[in-house]
Order: sequence, then structure tokens, then C-alpha cells
Amino acid sequence: MKTLIKATSLVVAIALSSAVSTTHAANHKAFEHANSKSKLLRCGTKTPSLKEAELKERHFDTVKRGKPGGGSGYTPRPAGSVTVDVYVHIITNNSGDGALSVADVSNQLNVLNNAYINSPFTFNLVNSHTVANNTWYTAGHGSAAERDMKNALRAGDSTDLNIYTNNMGGGLLGWATFPSDYASNPSNDGVVTLYATFPGGSAAPYNEGDTMTHEVGHWLGLYHTFQGGCKGKGDYVADTAPEKSPAYGCPIGRDSCTKGKGSSGVDPITNFMDYSDDACMYEFTTGQSNRADELSNVYRGL
Ligand SMILES: [Zn+2]
Repeated sequence: MKTLIKATSLVVAIALSSAVSTTHAANHKAFEHANSKSKLLRCGTKTPSLKEAELKERHFDTVKRGKPGGGSGYTPRPAGSVTVDVYVHIITNNSGDGALSVADVSNQLNVLNNAYINSPFTFNLVNSHTVANNTWYTAGHGSAAERDMKNALRAGDSTDLNIYTNNMGGGLLGWATFPSDYASNPSNDGVVTLYATFPGGSAAPYNEGDTMTHEVGHWLGLYHTFQGGCKGKGDYVADTAPEKSPAYGCPIGRDSCTKGKGSSGVDPITNFMDYSDDACMYEFTTGQSNRADELSNVYRGL
């Protein structure tokens, strides 16, 4: 697989950059945190406005009060105690581009499990299959093709993680739905990632499998570390320092919130929920683990 990827990486890189130049303007509005200087747009998951985030949080507070152990004093579950069943849908085009091997899927699941090792979550592969479909192969965020693909393929219920891989274009690496989205649109639930972001893939510097880790973070309820910028409650996690905007590359020591309340600490550029290179990101905080735990429990019954 690695040799094959190396041989074809030039072609893929060219395809990606030309896709960006033609579709970047169209994507710019939808993906407000995309880096115009970057060839690859880390994540298309919608970043809520301050007001939207506040409303979502109020709903979360209301719903959790009705749950046993909810409200104040939620006790985080032990590491590794919650098993998430995973269904992988590999979409190729009719020529077989986008294919992933059994080993590729296994390596990706290993990356995911290692990333979440201190959290309650472990990920258990139930089924992986390949579907050849030229339309779904380039399904973009919010497209009719995405809807059709998910309607046809989604498996399981609110507790099951459905992963779709394709070549969505626009230089995008992936997107995910949040736990609170599930009830209103169950068939849309899941994570979509660019197949070349799997470990050893051709989407360098995003080819160590951390796109999946990041998108699954959203699927479990986490916001970007730069959610809300330097203002308000940011990402609603107390132990991630506030951050004004996404970090790219690996800017060690970056400190984008230097004034007032949000000035505590350098930016969390090594956190999986930032936009840094895969080689730069390696951690979730305890606060993130606890928030993912409680949100997934409340909205997914996980
Ligand atoms: Zn994201």
C-alpha cells in the first residue's frame, strides 16, 4: 500500500490543488475557517456562532438534568469502558480509485483507539465494505450525493459510528455531525473523510490518520479549540486555552489570545481539535474527554 501510494502521490497532489483553485471560492463561505493559503482545508464541520453555541449549551443543560446522574456532579466513565461499534463504507469510483485495504482500515482504527486511550471510548470494527459509485465518490458536504449515499448505506443506530471515505474534492479532508444533530436527522449521522488521510495515504501533512481522530471528536460532541475565539466560553472545555483562529503547520508557542479573560496560556496547537499538521497533534485534554463522555451519553445514549 505504501509503495503504491508513493507512486501515485504526485497525481493525487496535482488533482487536489487544481480542485482547490476552481472550487475554493464556492467553499469559502461554507467553510469559514478554511485557510486560504492552504491547499487542503482541514475540516468542513460547521462551526456554530457564539449565539448558536450558547443555545445548544442551554439545551444540553436542560436535557442532562432529566437524566440519572445528570445536572451537577456527572461522573466520567472509566477509560475504555464504552465500546463504539464502527461501520466503514469505502466509496471508490468505477475505476477503483479511492480503494482502501483491510490493513489500511485496521491501521486507521488503531490510530483512533490510541488517540482515545485515556477516554471512555474504544472503537470496534463491525464491518467494512467497498462500494463503487462515481457520484458518491465526489460527494461534498451538504450535497444531494451525500444524502443519497448515507440513506443507502448507514447502518446501526445513534450509538454506532458510520465512517464514509471518498474523494470529496475542494481540498477538504472531512466533516462530521454532532451528537445533538442525531435526533433531527438520523440518516445524516456520521463522519466523512478523504480516503488519502488514512495512515500512509497521500494527503501529507494530513496522512497519519488524525483527520479521523478529529472528526470523531466532533461526532462525540467536541468543538474546535478555536470555537468562539478569545471570547466567552470558547469550546466549553475549561482546560483548553482559548485560541483566536485555527493553527496550521506546527506553530509552537503561538499565543493568539493575549488580552483580558481569555489570555491564559499558549494556543492548544497539539490538540486533536485544532487544524495543525497530523505530526503536531497528539492529545485530548481531560476536560474534552469528560465533555465527549457526557454529550455522547445524553444525545446518543452511548
Ligand atoms: Zn473540525
